[in-house]
Amino acid sequence: MNIPTKVKLIIDILNKHDFEAYIVGGSVRDLLLQRKPKDWDIATNAKPEEVQKIFPKNFYKNDFGTVTVLTDSEDASVKEIEVTTYRTEANYSDQRHPDSLGFTEKIEEDLARRDFTINAIAAMPADKDNKNTYKQKGGAVFEDLVLVDPFGGLKDLNNKLIKAVGNPSERFAEDALRLMRAVRFAAQLDFDIEEETLKDLTSYSPALKAVSNERIRDEVVQIVMSNNPEAGFNLMQQTGLLAVALPEIAEGVGTDQNKHHTLTVFEHNIKSLQYAAKYEYSLPIRLAALLHDVGKPRTRRAKENDFTFYAHDVVGAQMTEKLLKRLRFSNEVIDKVTHLVRHHMFYYDVGKVTETGARRLLRRVGKEHFDDLIKVRIAERKGSGVPKAEPYRLRHLQFLVEKAAQEPITTGQLAIGGNDLIKDLSMKPGPEIGGVLNALLAEVLDDPKKNNKEWLLKRANDLKDKNPKELKAMGEAAKEEAERKREEDIKRKYHV
Ligand code: ATP
Ligand code: MG
Repeated sequence: MNIPTKVKLIIDILNKHDFEAYIVGGSVRDLLLQRKPKDWDIATNAKPEEVQKIFPKNFYKNDFGTVTVLTDSEDASVKEIEVTTYRTEANYSDQRHPDSLGFTEKIEEDLARRDFTINAIAAMPADKDNKNTYKQKGGAVFEDLVLVDPFGGLKDLNNKLIKAVGNPSERFAEDALRLMRAVRFAAQLDFDIEEETLKDLTSYSPALKAVSNERIRDEVVQIVMSNNPEAGFNLMQQTGLLAVALPEIAEGVGTDQNKHHTLTVFEHNIKSLQYAAKYEYSLPIRLAALLHDVGKPRTRRAKENDFTFYAHDVVGAQMTEKLLKRLRFSNEVIDKVTHLVRHHMFYYDVGKVTETGARRLLRRVGKEHFDDLIKVRIAERKGSGVPKAEPYRLRHLQFLVEKAAQEPITTGQLAIGGNDLIKDLSMKPGPEIGGVLNALLAEVLDDPKKNNKEWLLKRANDLKDKNPKELKAMGEAAKEEAERKREEDIKRKYHV
């Protein structure tokens, strides 16, 4: 377990000034899980003024006793280290912000204000002295760390449990953001939520209304970007958080599809997201996978013992835009995801999609979005619950589209044109010009290094009196051969 030198140094210096100092929060949790912490938080009984005096390179925004100490490290995770005075919080009348905030002298009181037991462990590097003292006092020692763990966080880490510190219903009533944080940590760490905590989370889920859309978005993004988004969304659904935060997605719960689908709309959407996570796709692609069928419940019509979903892509795109705007995603993300949802329904049967069809699709979707759209479709196919989703057909479409996107091979690519031949070689306008250019193209396709003005003019001088029909035929044959080769390369690229 590696604690960066900069972090150890800050703790050391605080100790030398007779203050206590511990690593706390997510950094301890990640350290114990052998994950690399995003950043390092230190808690101390030194007051902010004292911390500032000891570490002159700092900034202090006067919020909640946190002094940010600047180190000269290259490593982004230790460039700025937050040193926060032990504090307690009391009375959350708005379900988000404590009404009063006080400093305390006891690390245990600071840990008691934290949300979950796995986030409420304090640690310091162990040396011979403190290790023995702590052991004698009955404190926990874990490898080379001395732990202050009054709420059994280490045990819950080992049992993979998210458990509230103290009484869960009180903790959720204090701060409704914790409702989302519980689910987010479960998805990120692949943990379960402890029974009592889960029960109270479920009864308090309507309180999520008090949380701002930005904060909800930040948690949703972390669930979507985790390794277990499907489990995260199932938890949100089961606890009632989904209906508050993302009611559009909740509409698909229990919505049966037509006879070709075994999954409900909701199950299919989150399974598609899970595959997008498995393939490590980017945020917009994951969101598009999650939202691609969001329009299905509103467009579902019964028809001959089955259902249709006409225009669910259009309705879904509208719903997607509204939802992402409400959660204040960036315009870039909103535009991209909406576009992908709008176009996810393209047709791609091998043998039925013509080159013209491929070209039309490319024009409609846009070159810059095409590969992402394919990824959405791959996730969607995999997430359909059909055992054999057909990636071959998609690869074949990619091949067709890339082929369609290629510029045709023409004499226009040559470093000289007809005018050069007229000016420099005194040729007359007529079929001879085309013949020479075609013959030159044949040679350049064979050896691209020859595509320079000097060589081409010299060669043109040798060719200009030959039969123009023969020259043209030479060029055409070379063009066909080059196009065939190019097609082979694209085929190989997509394994078709
Ligand atoms: P991450 O890896 O996402 O940063 P984290 O646990 O470090 O996870 P932060 O939001 O950085 O989360 O918060 C740091 C610590 O502060 C948490 O570990 C927890 O102890 C405490 N904390 C954060 N938010 C809350 C909250 N809403 N209620 C109670 N404690 C909280
Ligand atoms: Mg953190």
